Amino acid sequence: MKLISVIVPCFNEREALPFFYREIARISGEQKGVSFELLFIDDGSTDETLDYLKELRRQDPRVKYLSFSRNFGKEAAMFAGLRAAAGDYVAVMDADMQDPPGLLPKMLDVLEGGEYDCAAVRRVSRQGEPRIRSFFARMFYRIINRISNADIVDGARDFRLMTRQMTDAILSVREVNRFSKGIFGWVGFRTKWIEFENVRRVAGETKWSFWKLFLYSLEGIVAFSTAPLAISSIAGLFFCLFAFLMVLVVILKTLIYGDPVGGWPSLACIILFTGGIQLFCMGILGQYLAKTYLECKRRPIYLVRESDGFADAQQIL
Ligand code: UDP
Ligand code: MG
Repeated sequence: MKLISVIVPCFNEREALPFFYREIARISGEQKGVSFELLFIDDGSTDETLDYLKELRRQDPRVKYLSFSRNFGKEAAMFAGLRAAAGDYVAVMDADMQDPPGLLPKMLDVLEGGEYDCAAVRRVSRQGEPRIRSFFARMFYRIINRISNADIVDGARDFRLMTRQMTDAILSVREVNRFSKGIFGWVGFRTKWIEFENVRRVAGETKWSFWKLFLYSLEGIVAFSTAPLAISSIAGLFFCLFAFLMVLVVILKTLIYGDPVGGWPSLACIILFTGGIQLFCMGILGQYLAKTYLECKRRPIYLVRESDGFADAQQIL
């Protein structure tokens, strides 16, 4: 019998979890010929999420949980889940019902067909989202796909069901600064996209402010492309050429009109402008350097405070 692992990162999801559990229990009960394990990753919640998970574990032996020592972020929670998952098929989904558990049977059919390694979900509308946020999201996808070789699909959620092979491929990507949307695309394999209309979360609030999303998108770009470095070198070259032309102009002007002094305000503007460009390019360089610094420290991606349901300690390290 095939085992399906469902990984659910939870950060302060006490309000949404009962809805989620009821739904996933119903769906998994209806599936014949497969068994489920439900891996909840408590990402340092400050509400009663962990207590609720313990209660679920008492009622349902398929429920297993890991609890982090603090909030490490959804990326870390997903990674921990992928590592702990023992299933032949592995699913990642949000606790807030924005990834409808009802789609799981369909995804399972896709993988059972044998043609695909992954069934993923893509929302076709961004309904219920501030317009400005949608605009920036679209821009981000356009830019990152142009400058990186990770195929990142607009509107793709993290919700997906993957084969063991693809899960192991993702785990073999050892970087500490993880940008899963990119990693999923980078490992390749055959993905079937299932489209659906955006759903609002059932309870609780989103953990993503506009600013957090913006920083996250920059992280994605730094993680999957070195194009900004190339752009800054090209900009440098461009300004050198421009300066050279200006020198020629100034020399000719002096020779023809004999006007050696003048143009101080414009000079000040030029100095400020090039100074700004230089700082900007140094900033870009700094971003990459900072990531290199953080990567080479090789700190653990997450730390577990407590867990239940895992026989093998290696799984939850
Ligand atoms: N999440 C997490 N750690 C965090 C932030 C979020 O594990 O630091 C989980 C959260 O509990 C939820 C999922 O990631 O299950 C998606 O979060 P959210 O619904 O806030 O994001 P959105 O759907 O608005 O993008
Ligand atoms: Mg959500």
